[in-house]
Amino acid sequence: MNILNFGSVNFDRVYRVPHFVRPGETIAATSFATFSGGKGFNQSTAIARAGGRVAHAGCIGADGIVLRDELARDGVDVGHLRVVDAPTGHGLIQVDDSGQNCIVICGGANRMVSAADVAVAFEGLGPGDALLVQNEISGIPEIISTAAGKGMEVVFNPAPMGPEVAGYPLDKVTLFIVNEVEAASLSGMSADEPGALLDALSARFPRADFVMTLGARGAAARFAGAPDAFVAAHRVAAVDTTAAGDTFIGFFLAARQRGEGVEAALAVANAAAAICVSRPGAAPSIPLLGEVAEKAT
Ligand code: ADP
Repeated sequence: MNILNFGSVNFDRVYRVPHFVRPGETIAATSFATFSGGKGFNQSTAIARAGGRVAHAGCIGADGIVLRDELARDGVDVGHLRVVDAPTGHGLIQVDDSGQNCIVICGGANRMVSAADVAVAFEGLGPGDALLVQNEISGIPEIISTAAGKGMEVVFNPAPMGPEVAGYPLDKVTLFIVNEVEAASLSGMSADEPGALLDALSARFPRADFVMTLGARGAAARFAGAPDAFVAAHRVAAVDTTAAGDTFIGFFLAARQRGEGVEAALAVANAAAAICVSRPGAAPSIPLLGEVAEKAT
């Protein structure tokens, strides 16, 4: 199974400020740091660190070459990451003294995915291969339809969730990987009980399989022809949950690529995500498979 991740690549530019800037005001940041990110970037990194093989397709600006190099260093195939005439996608993040944040996102190059990019990225892929896509780039309906037309598995992580998702060809998705908020939004039903949410999702998308992450409660899965699977979260001191879902997705798919069953894949993904939440940061907090193996058993 080849995995093609068509996804975002971002810089997160984080400014510590005494308070959020007000209309007409100019304030000085007390510190500044740039982090690599984007759900696509994080998920490709996680697949590679989990020992999986993944090709990342998408667009960056000339300023994003360092991010392409980072992916390549982790072992991601970056042959389909095109450099376009636009700034790399980025977030401008103010963090105030109480730890609250407010964020401006600029899609930049992530919004420049063209029909030609889609055609080229899917060359040579077919049944038995998988597409992974999140909701941070342009061209998602074409990407999903192209993968489905080739008979590939279509894995969709509808994050960040927005009203446009309802207009995507979701009947072509074969595996949804969602958190509880996304599950409620997709199914039109909110429930505290994971089984009820899975019922609502499978009523809405009867041909799809589902993995649902449940934060500090763990994760659940419903795959056709098998009983529902559930893993409880590991007890860890949560330091920073950024990229927890991305880590989970990467480790789950890499395990499936190795031929592991749903329960084994859930276990390793759950262990990897627990390590991620116990460390600060996004991509730097994504563990390697070797670190996870001990925790998963
Ligand atoms: P997202 O970040 O996408 O909203 P979740 O919050 O559901 O995703 O978290 C993804 C996974 O990370 C969970 O399924 C779980 O395995 C792990 N996780 C999240 N929060 C914790 C926590 N406090 N303790 C242990 N594991 C956690």
